[in-house]
Amino acid sequence: MSNLPEAPQPPTPPKGETWTKVYDCGCSASGGKDLPDYCAEHGTAPPTKVRAKFVCNSYETSLQQGAELRTVKLSAVYDGSPENKQFFKWTPNGQITMGVLNQAAWESFTLGKEFYVDFVPCANK
Ligand SMILES: [Zn+2]
Repeated sequence: MSNLPEAPQPPTPPKGETWTKVYDCGCSASGGKDLPDYCAEHGTAPPTKVRAKFVCNSYETSLQQGAELRTVKLSAVYDGSPENKQFFKWTPNGQITMGVLNQAAWESFTLGKEFYVDFVPCANK
């Protein structure tokens, strides 16, 4: 026995405890401690984006059933500006090859043009 005050106990939920969260949309969820911070149905979780930077190196033109298809090729930037060097630290290599049929879209892929490429996770898949 000791007269010392009891040390504060860490909050350990009893086994099988169910946690409940109520979201802004009015829905609630219950489950384990790792409940998401957003409603599974109406979720507006800020997705974790990954941004890379690519430069257009080349493109090829071909006819696809009478329409001009441009296949643009881009690679991750590595030099040319302080910002590019920063991107190189995080995404040191990468290749994108993309066929584009829409002329308005492929016109922006000029040689040497740099692009930000955002990888945004889909909410539902
Ligand atoms: Zn909801």
